Amino acid sequence: MNITAKDLLKIKPLIIAGPCAVESKEQITDIAKKLHQMGVKVLRCQLWKPRTDPTSFQGIGLKGLAYLKELKDKYGFLIATEITDKDQINQTKGVVDILWVGSRNMQNYELLKALGKDNRPVILKRGFISTISEWMGAGKYIGLGKVILCERGVRTGADSMRFTLDINAALVAKYDHKIPVIIDPSHTAGRSDMVPKLAYAGIAAGADGIVVEVHSHPEKALSDASQQITPKVFKELLDKVNAIYKIIHLKESSDISWVNPAKSANKKTRTRLSLAVVDRVGILKDILTVFADFDINLNKLESHPSKNKQWDYYFEVEVESGANEPRLVQALNILKKLCPSIKILGEP
Ligand code: PEP
Ligand code: MN
Repeated sequence: MNITAKDLLKIKPLIIAGPCAVESKEQITDIAKKLHQMGVKVLRCQLWKPRTDPTSFQGIGLKGLAYLKELKDKYGFLIATEITDKDQINQTKGVVDILWVGSRNMQNYELLKALGKDNRPVILKRGFISTISEWMGAGKYIGLGKVILCERGVRTGADSMRFTLDINAALVAKYDHKIPVIIDPSHTAGRSDMVPKLAYAGIAAGADGIVVEVHSHPEKALSDASQQITPKVFKELLDKVNAIYKIIHLKESSDISWVNPAKSANKKTRTRLSLAVVDRVGILKDILTVFADFDINLNKLESHPSKNKQWDYYFEVEVESGANEPRLVQALNILKKLCPSIKILGEP
């Protein structure tokens, strides 16, 4: 059974990570294990590399498919790979879950038509000198229902980085054309130090996810060495992207009311809260996860039936954080989605 684009987008945010290319069995196995430990579900890794210079590394081709199959079976990864030729559509069946079209092939219409006949989801990267309507036109050849667009930077008069991340286009594609969009900060930047910052910008703008190049030893990479980030940098990026995504996609459903305004923002301060909930399986786990995500320790938790008919019960909790600390403010903003009423009872 193929995964559909709709299923894929249930991974929120959609994080796709991996090296620019499969270089050897050892290289892909090592980085895949590290990414799996960080919770990455979709592995990017290219077998075929369209390169400007014919003498540079061209990818290991079909030989790498067996390595990917092993990692898929071992870790349950979904595998995403760029295809550069119609024949690769059939050759990758049974291993590659998500096919993608690279920037240089966005207008290879015979390839797009062939992809239209396959039922796997397709990531369609934007041609780096393509307009929005050319991008959408390319998507229609494949079938927009199974397309996830990828903004990877365009060539403009601005030459501050390798390409210019066109957030405007990503917003128009997502909000006007209603097609899911992910951001590729790696190829946009062309330099590793800027990759996290561009990833945050993309997620903050409302993108559905990111695709990031990660390599255990970027300095030794056979392609795109300057922009691949280490697993350590990626872990930090991942935590921040998840936090930004939560804030951006927060649906305001209640107001926070202050019973006793906070006395201080002292880090050692504790804060008592009352969180009203409508009963459902897993609600307590969801609330505790939000506190854990923001590194907030709980000292006390009591559950009380509610006299108010609007909700079933409320949790009285005492957390190890000042009421004005940014991490608690952010956690409460997310908890607003889960709790119809939140009261800050004060700092004991
Ligand atoms: C890639 O994702 O590895 C790649 C080559 O990107 P692009 O097609 O955007 O240049
Ligand atoms: Mn690359």
